[in-house]
Parts: sequence; C-alpha cells; structure tokens
Amino acid sequence: MSASWASCARGHVHWGRRGAAGLLLADRGRVLLQLRARWAHQGGTWSIPGGAREAGESYADAALREAEEELGVDADAVDVRGSYVATCGGWTYETVLAVPLTGLALADRSESDGHRWVPAADVADLPLHPAFRAAWDDPAGALRAFVTPGG
Ligand SMILES: [Zn+2]
Repeated sequence: MSASWASCARGHVHWGRRGAAGLLLADRGRVLLQLRARWAHQGGTWSIPGGAREAGESYADAALREAEEELGVDADAVDVRGSYVATCGGWTYETVLAVPLTGLALADRSESDGHRWVPAADVADLPLHPAFRAAWDDPAGALRAFVTPGG
C-alpha cells in the first residue's frame, strides 16, 4: 500500500498523498453511514467508507475499493452518478455519489464497527467525522440534495 500522509499548503496533514475519496450511497432518502472503528483515525464517529487514493486510481475507483474493503460493497451493484469535490490547500477529497442497483449484502470489515442506512434528516444528529460533517453542512447542500432530491 502506498498511502501516506500529505501536507497541504495550509499546513495541515491529510491522509492520502494523492488525495482521498469516499463513497456516499443514497437510497430512498437514506444514506449509508459507517461507524469508524475505535482504533482508526477519528474512531467512534460516523462517516462514509473511504480512504487514500492510490497510484493509477481515479477517485471513483478509490471510493469503490474502500467501500468494498470496509463494508463489502460490490462495485458492480452500484451506479456512480456524480461527485462532490472538497479541497484544502491543494489537497483533494472527493465524495463519490452513487446509488445501489440491487440490495447490497453489507458486512463490517476493515475499520468498521457498524453501518446503518440513516434518513437524511437524522444525519446531522450523529457524532460525525469532522470532514464528513463539513461536507454534509456545505451551504450549497450538494450531498443533501443528492440524498433527498427536491427535499
Ligand atoms: Zn489542509
């Protein structure tokens, strides 16, 4: 694995020398969230499955690989519809927006202590990973608009 920390132009360190990506799955007004394992960075918070982008991977590929590694999401069973890009000092995190094409057989694997389909209206009440909260609270509302179109 070639993942490693990166320093951004604003002086932070971010996980993923080539940036990082996560998979936001939306189904009938609900979003699939994962409880991060206690030992992981920001453990005990809820977020979407994701992680560092590796050499030669697109952000979508990275998001789908991480979702498979962490929750057993079958990449062939989801349809990617778009993405939401957040940057910090030249470092990029891309939230890949997708919908399941069939019922998913999910399992808590690496870095996951649980998962849940959460109604969009309830997401903000959970203890969220700070980066996911920032994306969810973006005033432009791209994530919420994807989960609940017209809502
Ligand atoms: Zn930064």
